[in-house]
Amino acid sequence: MSVRSALPVMLTAATVVALAGCTSTKPSASDDGSKLQLVKSGKITTCTHLPYEPFQVRKNNSIVGFDVDLVDLVAKDLKVTQDIIDTPFEGIQSGEDLNTRKCDLAAAGMTITPVRSKNLDFTDPYFDATQALVTKKGTSYTTLAALKGKKLGVQQGTTGETYAQKNAKGVTAVQFEDLGLLLTAVKTGQVDAAINDNGVLFEYVRKNPDTEVTAEFNTGEKYGIGVRTGNDALRLEINKVLKKAKADGSYDRIYKKWFPAAPKK
Ligand code: GLN
Repeated sequence: MSVRSALPVMLTAATVVALAGCTSTKPSASDDGSKLQLVKSGKITTCTHLPYEPFQVRKNNSIVGFDVDLVDLVAKDLKVTQDIIDTPFEGIQSGEDLNTRKCDLAAAGMTITPVRSKNLDFTDPYFDATQALVTKKGTSYTTLAALKGKKLGVQQGTTGETYAQKNAKGVTAVQFEDLGLLLTAVKTGQVDAAINDNGVLFEYVRKNPDTEVTAEFNTGEKYGIGVRTGNDALRLEINKVLKKAKADGSYDRIYKKWFPAAPKK
């Protein structure tokens, strides 16, 4: 099994075009998204759902990770500091947290999907991902078909859950609220396998040698940072910072920091 598909994508014009055309309601004149406004002054407020290591995880009372470092680059550029709110994934992916001004942006290893793009706006993609299967070491569950009649753990509201609903016929899906609970269920044998994004699963098996990734499903996902629909000022600011980070090596530095075992690009 390789981590090659977890490698980052180049931020290309083509991917920007692919994201265009999502519907957005016309915002009011006072907050039309043309001026950069933050929900709390002096802060950029991020919504995320913990734990999602190595993208966001609590370590010694602070929240750290790949996504955290990327958003810190935006904060630095805006001369503010990042505040992170841990909140259920449903409020993040539905756009509700952004609409109610709970946060300025959502950085949660979140896959850009057509449905989500109707409810929030995504920045340019910043990371490639695919679904993968994790089991205790030594099982023969290398396909979803092999799990027929068995229990497959899924994380609520995620693309992994959607993939399992479509592709895991005859398999009993067991829903978990977060990645931590999902992985503990694999380790303790509460489920026979679990599906989630390859980046987080490879990180987990690296630290838990009694588990292994047995399959990747090539779903071709791309992560984007979410902003409120129509908040173009912030979306374009983040895109500018992502582009610069790619060009000046800071993206690579952050990538190597959080994916030390990944093969060289
Ligand atoms: N990338 C997956 C999704 O968007 C999982 C995200 C997460 O659990 N934080 O659904």
